[in-house]
Amino acid sequence: MRRSEVDRSKLSPMMAQYMEIKDMYQDELLFYRLGDFYELFFEDGITASKELELTLTGRVGGLEERVPMCGVPYHSVKGYIEKLVNKGYRVAICEQLEDAKNVKGMVKRGVTDVISKGTIADLELLDSFSASYIASLLTYPDIYVLTILDISTGKLMSISLNKELQKLVNEILHYQIKEIVLKDNVETNLIDLLKTRYNIEVNINNNLYDNVSDSLFTKVSDARVKLGVKHLYYYLINIELKDLSGVQELQLINRNDYLQMDVHAIRNLELVETLRNKERQFSLIWLLDKCKTAMGSRKLKEWIINPIKNIKVLNSRYDKIEKLNEEFILKDELRDLLDQVYDIERLTGKITNGNLNGRDLLQLKKSLGTLPKIKEIIEKLGFDYQIDTFNDLFNLLESAISEDAPVGVKEGGMIKAGYNQNLDELKLIRAGGKDYVAGFEAKVKEETGIKNLKIGFNKVFGYYIEISKGQASEVKENFGWERRQTLANCERFISPELKEKESLILNAEEKIIDLEYELFIDIKDKVKAYILDVRKTADELSEIDVIASFSTITDDYNLVRPKLNNEHVLKIVGGRHPVVEAVSNEEYVDNDCVMDENTSTLLITGPNMSGKSTYMRQVAITIVMAQIGSFVPCKEANLPIIDKIFTRIGASDDLVAGQSTFMVEMMEANNAILNATKDSLIIFDELGRGTATYDGISLAQAILEYVSENIKCKTLFSTHYHEITSLDQKYRSIKNVHVDATMEDDKLVFLHKIKNGSVDKSYGIHVASLANMPDSLIKRAGEILEGYENNAAKTKTNNVQLALDLDPKPIKTEDIFADIDPLNLTPIEALNVLYNLKEKYSQNKKEIGK
Ligand code: ADP
Ligand code: MG
Repeated sequence: MRRSEVDRSKLSPMMAQYMEIKDMYQDELLFYRLGDFYELFFEDGITASKELELTLTGRVGGLEERVPMCGVPYHSVKGYIEKLVNKGYRVAICEQLEDAKNVKGMVKRGVTDVISKGTIADLELLDSFSASYIASLLTYPDIYVLTILDISTGKLMSISLNKELQKLVNEILHYQIKEIVLKDNVETNLIDLLKTRYNIEVNINNNLYDNVSDSLFTKVSDARVKLGVKHLYYYLINIELKDLSGVQELQLINRNDYLQMDVHAIRNLELVETLRNKERQFSLIWLLDKCKTAMGSRKLKEWIINPIKNIKVLNSRYDKIEKLNEEFILKDELRDLLDQVYDIERLTGKITNGNLNGRDLLQLKKSLGTLPKIKEIIEKLGFDYQIDTFNDLFNLLESAISEDAPVGVKEGGMIKAGYNQNLDELKLIRAGGKDYVAGFEAKVKEETGIKNLKIGFNKVFGYYIEISKGQASEVKENFGWERRQTLANCERFISPELKEKESLILNAEEKIIDLEYELFIDIKDKVKAYILDVRKTADELSEIDVIASFSTITDDYNLVRPKLNNEHVLKIVGGRHPVVEAVSNEEYVDNDCVMDENTSTLLITGPNMSGKSTYMRQVAITIVMAQIGSFVPCKEANLPIIDKIFTRIGASDDLVAGQSTFMVEMMEANNAILNATKDSLIIFDELGRGTATYDGISLAQAILEYVSENIKCKTLFSTHYHEITSLDQKYRSIKNVHVDATMEDDKLVFLHKIKNGSVDKSYGIHVASLANMPDSLIKRAGEILEGYENNAAKTKTNNVQLALDLDPKPIKTEDIFADIDPLNLTPIEALNVLYNLKEKYSQNKKEIGK
């Protein structure tokens, strides 16, 4: 049965109400609250039952057939919402807006929240290690303005970008933005790209929200930036019904302040997840994260993907680490305290968007309770963090919220005795109606002086004051009592006070629950006034947590404080790859990496499995660690401030995006060539491997020459093309190193030690034998190799000649690259590019032959 075909005149009142609300939320799955369940009807019900694997039932709704229905219990609704939203659905939550017991007929209902991919705010549903971003994208003739908000923490940022699609995509992937709001002037191919290739939810909306508080914009003057915020706000407030009062001041992000890495570099260096399993375990952050709070872990992640370039700030982080290393007792105390701090950034988010309960407030209180001591330690250490202790807020929560508050907020048991007199009285009444009556009786006796009055109860009159005939005359007019019943030997009265108490006694339970809820809402409002300040302190705590974590790993992983320079000097003595070292069973062999200001390229050769890739990564990781403010894994380091890291490392084929190895390889190389500066670090791991030998060599050599001579940035270049190792004779900026291996009893032994000069043996067959290939096969391979080597020996000199003289002026590959727009290439076009490159190569060869 389809919703659109229903004869609405026949519907039951409830179904009619449902229809009216659903009309306004056509694009969402409407969760309609019915008592203890959320129900989905018609097509929504069918969809939900399929996606959530729940039974599809039916409900009588006035029609001939039952209306298809699927329901979930209210207390477990979060998980279901999360599942649907992650599958790309939008969910609208329709609540009962009145208490059913106070209403005759239909309870009023309305949508209170709309949830989409980028706006899940419940901390229980979010990855505590990562921020969760929604963004607005505005396009102007010359720039993109990207406004990014984590609704769960209130962190708001704005980035203005030159109008280059690749840069835009990079930012979107960098922040793992889950949902983007666009105006309808955006090109459809961008929308398609975001939706289908990157699985980002895209919504179109052209409106602006006009009442954005100016306090967000104290550092902003650019109207386009403000418009971005207004655009995002409209969508969140008017379409998704969010409360944005917890959003923090807008932060302007300027990429030039940071060490820039594109998604490939972050992936290739395995900074936040491993290449193979895409898991946090065995990534750099997994190793470095000894944070005690979720906020610290998120801050660390933010730092790792956005290292900085400011030497002063970095040195001040090192100073703090050093201080904590010295004051280890204070450090331990500090970390113990941090351990008691909950995720208050996101807890406070539940006050504005989510289902806050008594337990959340208790967690907030416990967290706040640590602040005075943390502040004291921070002051002792002489650190410049601003920590507010929120004494008033703490006292409010301490006096109000009971230690065993339940999960629900509408069942009582949350408010402490002593917080509210009326509530205490009600509880007294509930605890013992009799005690209360006895107390009241004594009080009335005392007040009136009538000794033998009694309080009684019957079903007809309720509670009454009974006085014997003899004393009835002592009841004075001014008591305000009302005579109810006259019996043979006594009179029965009621007093206004007794009448009031009577209804209290009879409805105590219900009243307690209502009053507690009222008080809870009141407390929640009071806490809400503190959100922005609490979040500021939370941010400071997260940084303290990261720094304390850095101090902890200094000992754990044997790290040293690096020196930083602006002179292009790179000197690492006894460097290690911290993750490989921690995970591997073998003893890690440390290695130096020394490049003075005139050396731009290390050309690294060595057999497979000898440690080339590991060596190059360890240098990059050392740089990243230094530029987030951590100590580094070596004996001694003097490091240049790096502005960008580029990587081209094998085996990261973007298969999902349908790109071949070679294409990806050339795109990444091109990206580096176009964007690197003298201050950059490039890692090219066996460049040119993805194509035929001669193409590969020529490309590798041309690229190597180009970066060494034209860009002059620090470049680590590993290669299996031994032909190009003689380039060091031609270019002073290029230095050869190799990784050592020796043969012991006909077996290859890796020493993993980097040495000066080059090697010209690849030991490939020996590696194959290590992999336990059949002996006969290995032997045959040896024979074939010998044949080749004999041949090669005859032509060797020619070969080297060939490589060096291919083009006395380096091939003008940059011209070819400049014309490639990788994102818009079809596979056929990519093949054409390849074909052209090859043509060029053959041409060159012919010319040399002449
Ligand atoms: P290559 O790139 O030369 O083929 P890798 O860098 O992939 O070699 O290293 C191969 C393996 O050798 C790594 O997985 C690691 O376990 C080990 N290895 C590399 N470098 C070292 C080192 N310096 N000390 C100890 N083991 C190492
Ligand atoms: Mg390798």
